[in-house]
Amino acid sequence: MGSYVELWKSLGMDIEKHDALLQSQRPFFKEVVSSQKNRPKKMEYFDSLVAGSHTTRIKDLANLKAAGNKIVGAFCLYAPEELVTAAGAIMVGLCGGANFPVWEAETVLPRNLCPLIKSSFGFKIGYTCPYFQISDLLVGETTCDGKKKVYELLNELSPTHVMEIPHNPDTSQGRTLWLKELELFKQQLESLTGNKITAEKLKESIELINNRRKALKRLSDLRKNVPSPISGIDALLVNQVSCDDNIQRSTSKIHELCEELEDRVKNGEGVTSKNALRLMITGSPMAIPNWKLHHIAESLGASIVVEESCSGTRYFNQFVSPKGNSMDDLMAALVDRYSAIPCACFTPNNARLQSISDLAKDFHVDGVINYTLQFCHTFNVEGVKIETLLKKQNIPLLRVESDYSQEDTGQIQTRLEAFMEMISAKTARRDNS
Ligand code: SF4
Ligand code: SF4
Repeated sequence: MGSYVELWKSLGMDIEKHDALLQSQRPFFKEVVSSQKNRPKKMEYFDSLVAGSHTTRIKDLANLKAAGNKIVGAFCLYAPEELVTAAGAIMVGLCGGANFPVWEAETVLPRNLCPLIKSSFGFKIGYTCPYFQISDLLVGETTCDGKKKVYELLNELSPTHVMEIPHNPDTSQGRTLWLKELELFKQQLESLTGNKITAEKLKESIELINNRRKALKRLSDLRKNVPSPISGIDALLVNQVSCDDNIQRSTSKIHELCEELEDRVKNGEGVTSKNALRLMITGSPMAIPNWKLHHIAESLGASIVVEESCSGTRYFNQFVSPKGNSMDDLMAALVDRYSAIPCACFTPNNARLQSISDLAKDFHVDGVINYTLQFCHTFNVEGVKIETLLKKQNIPLLRVESDYSQEDTGQIQTRLEAFMEMISAKTARRDNS
């Protein structure tokens, strides 16, 4: 660690506070992730990404930066990483999933704000996140109210480009706006990097990033098997960490993991018994190290088999068409792909309901947990529609609203136990009838 202190200092980090952050995270990782039984061997690589997230990866990024590359920090799936990559820049994720910096954010922001926003902002004002510190540009988006107002505050600390995201992208005016916003972001990237984004470079980046999404989809599809060959925590971890890694390297490591899992499937091996209850989590994003709900559910013997989330299917289920050759075609393909991500900031957002319904069927789900981060109004209100939908389909649903603290762990555990008992009783009745 000592050899990285100079690097962190050069990024303007608060070394003492950062040490305290690392000390608080290590036992948590051990308790939640590495203590799991029967983990795939190929998870070692993804564990090493977690271990190196504030050391080796930051050194890589610092070296790339010294060689003239720019770093762009993003908070949302709508930040078009294809454009960032085509400009020769590197995109990193900045969404906070830790409780550690929340208190500090609350010295500035209202307490009744989503923990993801508070955690991200707390990392910035506490100088404890090397990814914030190393970023040359932040890219925000007008998705939810909390985030868009916080970008105004972040812009006072770091240059922040905000993309206006239409809330109804199916209309012609929504589509026109999206295209215009992509064009403005492209110009911003060109001026940041001094590189022209050509159609050729964009097409290459589209293929590169499609390939990583396809690898993650391959991993996700393997979880359709009964029993699933990988735990929900491990699959979530891969989604969370691979996006900050080198794109080609993470893609090939995900494929290696999939090969191991395919062998497990051939041998009928899983991480749980084939009778474990299969649950889907749908809702607000789960940024690293937010493994709380997965940890509680899987410690109770359930198998989380799919996340309809920005840390899950919403990231990798849609691809950008690489067919066009002109800049106009490729930019239109970006709009098509990005506007097909069903986030609750859209209104109406019927595609998400269809997606939840399809995933429940494809992944042989016994029950669904509708997960909302506290004060995340869009996902919370949309939960009403999900409840109605799943009731009609006779799929049990549990609604959980939580933050990043451990205060409600016991309460969530009790509710989940009761939920799982209810599903088991229902399944037994169905099987006996
Ligand atoms: S939930 Fe919506 S606003 Fe939040 S990261 Fe995902 S796409 Fe972006
Ligand atoms: S989780 Fe909800 S409230 Fe929080 S940033 Fe995302 S959309 Fe906004």
